[in-house]
Amino acid sequence: MTLTSTPTTDLADRARASLDALGAVVPEGSGLTARTALHAETLFDLPVHTAAAVAGAVERAEAAFLAWREVPAPRRGDVVRRFGELLREHKDDLADLVTVETGKIVSEARGEVQEMIDICDYAVGLSRQLWGKSIASERPGHRLAETWHPLGVVGVISAFNFPVAVWAWNTAVALVCGDPVVWKPSELTPLTALGASAILRQAIEEQGYSPDLSQVVLGGREVGEALVDDPRVALLSATGSVRMGREVGPRVAARFGRSLLELGGNNAAIVAPSADLRITVPGVVFAAAGTAGQRCTTLRRLIVHRSVKDEVLRRLVTAYESLPIGDPFADGTLVGPLVDARAGDAFEAAVSKAVAQGGSVLVGGERASVDGLTGTFVRPTIIDMPAQEGIVIEETFAPILYVLTYDDFDEAIALNNGVTQGLSSAVFTQDQREAERFLSAAGSDTGIANVNIGTSGAEIGGAFGGEKETGGGRESGSDSWHAYMRMATNTVNYSTELPLAQGVTFLD
Ligand code: NAD
Repeated sequence: MTLTSTPTTDLADRARASLDALGAVVPEGSGLTARTALHAETLFDLPVHTAAAVAGAVERAEAAFLAWREVPAPRRGDVVRRFGELLREHKDDLADLVTVETGKIVSEARGEVQEMIDICDYAVGLSRQLWGKSIASERPGHRLAETWHPLGVVGVISAFNFPVAVWAWNTAVALVCGDPVVWKPSELTPLTALGASAILRQAIEEQGYSPDLSQVVLGGREVGEALVDDPRVALLSATGSVRMGREVGPRVAARFGRSLLELGGNNAAIVAPSADLRITVPGVVFAAAGTAGQRCTTLRRLIVHRSVKDEVLRRLVTAYESLPIGDPFADGTLVGPLVDARAGDAFEAAVSKAVAQGGSVLVGGERASVDGLTGTFVRPTIIDMPAQEGIVIEETFAPILYVLTYDDFDEAIALNNGVTQGLSSAVFTQDQREAERFLSAAGSDTGIANVNIGTSGAEIGGAFGGEKETGGGRESGSDSWHAYMRMATNTVNYSTELPLAQGVTFLD
């Protein structure tokens, strides 16, 4: 089923109207094109920031830091609270921009803005809980404690697929921790970035602080590199492909900077014989086909027990056949376009490779056309694979689900862990032993491991991130805030003696 269709001119007007409502000033210039996933056409031109402009932004951020670090954290939380209020007010304006640029369906675009609101609420609470431990000292009359201080300028490089939520995870927490942010959004989503940062700057200025606490620099990889290499950027938080992380990580390390890497995933779900298929099937379909397969947590490998495979696949194919593909703005659409034509080529190449490796396409495997839209649409695809190798161990950013078969639960866990990425995983089972084994030290090796729920759609209260080539970073909830602060260990001697640690004697 396909649904239709918003013309490019309407999208350009819609984007301008949203940007106006958000109070964003769209800079004049050329070098970067604002485009839309709905059409193979551009919307309008934007400038690219030079290396000197990036350096200027970092310099201003550093100046803002010197004042901001001394503002009490709960007062810093006031800015984030106001940002959250403005996000509530402008939810649809910002969600519109997300849909125009990424092609995300309206419900998911609104969900992305909701995630920003959620992290603001979280960060406001956090602003009163930036606590350190008090530790027992071995010496009488001594106190040993840790204190957490603001770190410095945080550089954020973000990917196209969560064009604003990932920045908000970083920024809401960084701001309450006392750090300004310089943001290099994806070159595919500059408008969403301009809109989101405009309302944050409004919140900052309303509270009487420097707007340099939040800045945006536009452009592609070169602009990102200028942030990566700037020694004044204390933490570089980069979200994107493993390729990008492989380039960025060593460069930041070479200058002894701190990096937080959130990279690609190749996420699996195990479907055990006892799985409740009434929740397994919708859970798998949302995780694998939602966001047109363009989440880092998208389900890409389904590891199914041989005894239930036929029934699981029969139900999944039926569900896939009725997924409405079309205009992401249209009511009822569940699968919008891929972000651009290159993503469509990667989809086709992956399907061909899977077939060449002996895979059988059970549903999909081809492009879809949507009346009136010239963007890249593909049919969500399920491919039954003979083995986990070749294309199956790569992340293709498209809705392709590879099916693998298992007989023994340990074999399923080995398949789950048998890839280089380590972001998210899930098991569908009603067998408590299997569920606990999956979550145990000998179970799944991913940063997110779920039971009876898909691999995508995390809540902000937990830490988000993954192991191995996913980069090891943690963002959002739990104690992820530690990455945005520096810890000092303090020993205070309130006695009249000077005993040395470990019983050392000196000048006695
Ligand atoms: P990408 O790697 O092409 O680009 C991501 C960002 O990095 C962009 O802003 C880009 O301009 C910048 N960049 C690229 N090379 C750079 C370099 N050498 N130096 C500095 N900056 C550089 O990724 P994408 O196509 O935008 O996004 C999709 C990828 O992101 C997928 O692999 C997905 O799994 C991953 N992702 C991961 C998470 C996570 O939290 N783990 C979240 C979202 C997306």
